[in-house]
Amino acid sequence: MKTFTAALASLALGALLVAGPALAQDKGTIGIAMPTKSSARWISDGNSMVKLFEAAGYKTDLQYAEDDIPNQLNQIENMITKGDKVLVIAAIDGTTLSNALDNAAAAGIKVIAYDRLIKGDKNVDYYATFDNFKVGVEQANSLVTGMKERFPGVKPWNVELFGGSPDDNNAFFFYNGAMSVLQPMIDAGDIKIVSGQMGMDKVGTLRWDGAVAQARMDNLLSANYTDKHVNGVLSPYDGLSIGILSSLKGVGYGTGDLKMPIVTGQDSEIPSIKSIIAGEQYSSIYKDTRELAKVTVGMVNALMAGSTPEINDTTTYNNGVKVVPSYLLQPVEVDKTNYEKILVGGGYYTADQLK
Ligand code: BGC
Repeated sequence: MKTFTAALASLALGALLVAGPALAQDKGTIGIAMPTKSSARWISDGNSMVKLFEAAGYKTDLQYAEDDIPNQLNQIENMITKGDKVLVIAAIDGTTLSNALDNAAAAGIKVIAYDRLIKGDKNVDYYATFDNFKVGVEQANSLVTGMKERFPGVKPWNVELFGGSPDDNNAFFFYNGAMSVLQPMIDAGDIKIVSGQMGMDKVGTLRWDGAVAQARMDNLLSANYTDKHVNGVLSPYDGLSIGILSSLKGVGYGTGDLKMPIVTGQDSEIPSIKSIIAGEQYSSIYKDTRELAKVTVGMVNALMAGSTPEINDTTTYNNGVKVVPSYLLQPVEVDKTNYEKILVGGGYYTADQLK
């Protein structure tokens, strides 16, 4: 009888040990490598993912690298060493992660490129992002709409172009999307790039740095606009737009007869929405980071269950080694006329946050 009870007890203990992790809902840790906290969007991305992953029973290891490439590499290598189950990476420089990805693959860890494509390696399993070409198209359309409104009858409109960071694949998609709208207008003589600076090699802004954009705008203005006015500035990201606007305000745009040029943006960050409300920045692009987090968590769930994640694009994102299966969300243009409905109505911000 004693032996029977002891055997039962050890059986029960065994069952408990097996059931233990499931009872605690511990499905392992997901490593989340984000580029920087200096832009609010990445903070929202990180927070949304942590919330959703934890609700789905995962632990999370969320790291920010403050735009320092070796720092991000270290963080990713640590995640691999610690045995994280899946890595979700928004790369600072999309071309420098090959080694780490090879190590992840060797350890059986899947990799999802988050918002930014990781290039030059076969071990990028999936890509969750927005339609980045369309972001550029929307930015340029908004630039043109704004110039029609604010500078009717002017021909050509004087415009300057800014691009994002040349180590971020997205920057090229934004620029090419925008130029698909602007180039025909340049060719037709409706738009003039007064500085002549065109192409990502000339207009790119390393690390998406607002101070770099502000300094470049200062130079553009002093070298090209002493005897003419600028009507529009293509800016691919709110952090750059704020720098560009400071430069413009510094020489008097937005006061007296000197109308503020149309300045675009992206990410709908709070300072930029406030600037739009104040009539300075003209527009931004809204990318619902909560949705991107949801798509990513869905991908991880599918991978962990041994099934295939849902994707909606198998042609666009060639990383130099393979076309990475992707899920693209839709960006939305936001300006003074619709920010309330989209951003406040959609629960992205409260009305108070925009005061
Ligand atoms: C993202 C943009 C963001 C930019 C700067 C890009 O990769 O897609 O949303 O504005 O990085 O952080």
